[in-house]
This record gives sequence, structure tokens and C-alpha cells, in this order.
Amino acid sequence: MSDTMAAREVDRSHMQVSDEIAIDINGMNKWYGTFHVLRDINLTVNRGERIVVAGPSGSGKSTLIRCINRLEVHQAGKIVVDGTELTSDLKNIDKVRSEVGMVFQHFNLFPHLTILENLTLAPIWVRKTPKKEAEEVAMHYLHKVKIPEQALKYPGQLSGGQQQRVAIARSLCMKPRIMLFDEPTSALDPEMIKEVLDTMIELAEEGMTMICVTHEMGFAQAVANRVIFMDQGQIVEQNNPHDFFNNPKSERTKLFLSQIL
Ligand code: ADP
Ligand code: MG
Repeated sequence: MSDTMAAREVDRSHMQVSDEIAIDINGMNKWYGTFHVLRDINLTVNRGERIVVAGPSGSGKSTLIRCINRLEVHQAGKIVVDGTELTSDLKNIDKVRSEVGMVFQHFNLFPHLTILENLTLAPIWVRKTPKKEAEEVAMHYLHKVKIPEQALKYPGQLSGGQQQRVAIARSLCMKPRIMLFDEPTSALDPEMIKEVLDTMIELAEEGMTMICVTHEMGFAQAVANRVIFMDQGQIVEQNNPHDFFNNPKSERTKLFLSQIL
């Protein structure tokens, strides 16, 4: 098992799960053409939950979290985010996207813009935030991810781990209430994984609602309150990390764990 987290004491005091529902997915199904990629997904995420989604490649993890901010369209069932149902109504989609931040495996920073410009672009042009204020917010989050000194550099001058922390800071500049992570450390060299996980841990410690697709099971054990296992487009099993790892119920989960741990 990955020991990336071994050195880090995680402060769970602010990681409280409230009664308030952040995301409610009911009977959701999705097809890519004729391929039935997500089957009868039911998932309720309360505010303050840290959920890790695990499962084999191709099981639908990315598709599931991309549906939550409508980067993918579902065909049946309901997805409600912060009380707003995702339909073709563009107003609703904008509202949900303004509350949900997403970080991908590849950082997707604009290479011709400085770090500071990458961080202020959406606040200035989408949110109409005055430039000076957007820059102050950007610097606040660059401090938070511990690379304020990189503000005037270009993405190509940063390491992969630093670029991913910029991508996280860029999301935070939009003040999301929910953060979705899709394998944020999978493209990184081992020595850079920890610095990105540490940033994610800090967000969790501050009470952020998070859904993280990741193979970092050390992170899952330290931070998650719930682990969800997907296979072939279905949620096969979910449990608290202790029981998920020590007492998996389904054969498919056992097989998966035997391959990664
Ligand atoms: P995971 O993130 O668990 O690896 P994905 O959600 O990326 O899984 O993909 C689930 C399945 O859907 C895979 O079989 C994949 O090949 C397929 N798939 C993903 N994206 C598309 C797409 N845009 N069009 C058609 N099939 C897709
Ligand atoms: Mg994926």
C-alpha cells in the first residue's frame, strides 16, 4: 500500500459531516451511444463529506464525476447539486458550475499565461471581479498551496506537482462549495504526489465537501469518511474506509483490493 500519507497527522476536527445534502443522485443512468456506461446510480453526499471513488479503469468513475458538473449529460434519473437540478437549463448548469470546482489528472493551465493570469482569468471574465481584487484572491490561494513565489512564472517553468497545485488554487479562486478531483496525482512523479495530497488534505481539514477519484488508498484511509467502489458502471459497494479495506463484502471489491494493496 502507498505510504505517501504515513508522515502526515490529519486533523479531523473540522471535517464534520452536516445533515445538509450537497449532491443527490437518484436512479441516474448514462449511455455513450448504445454503451450503457452508468447504471442506476444512487448517491447522496452531505456537506462536509470526503468521498473517495475507487474502481478499475473503465468502470465509469470519471464519467460519474463529470456528470456532477454537466461535463457529461445523463439520460435518465436525477442529479441535484446544492438544490439545483441538472437539466438542459443553462441557468442551472451555470449555477452548479459556479459551486463545483474540478481538478483533472492533466492540469489544463494556459501555457501562454502566467500563473497569476491563469488564476484571475475566470474571476475577471466570468465573475466580473475587478482585476486588483481577483489578483488578491489569487495570491491568497497561491499562498495556501504554498507557491506564492511562482505567481509571475509560466506553467512550463513549474514542476508537475506545482502545476497541479496551481490548478487547485485556480478552482478555489471561484470559491466552490464542492470540489471534484479526477485522479489528480496520476500524472505526477512519485516525489510530487505528496505535495498535492497535502494540499487536498488541507482542504478536507477546512471542511470542504470533496469527491476524489484516486488510487491513493493511504489518502482514502486518512481523509475519506466514505469509500465508494465502482465496477462496470455501477456502485458495487460503499463503506467507511476502515470497513471498506478490512472487511470488503463483494468479490469484485476483494479482487480489486488484492490487486492494488
Ligand atoms: P474510469 O474513469 O473509471 O476509468 P470512464 O468514466 O473514463 O472510466 O469510462 C467508462 C467507460 O466509458 C469506458 O469503457 C470508456 O471507454 C467509456 N467512455 C468514456 N468516455 C467515453 C466517450 N466520450 N465516448 C464513448 N465511450 C466513452
Ligand atoms: Mg477516469
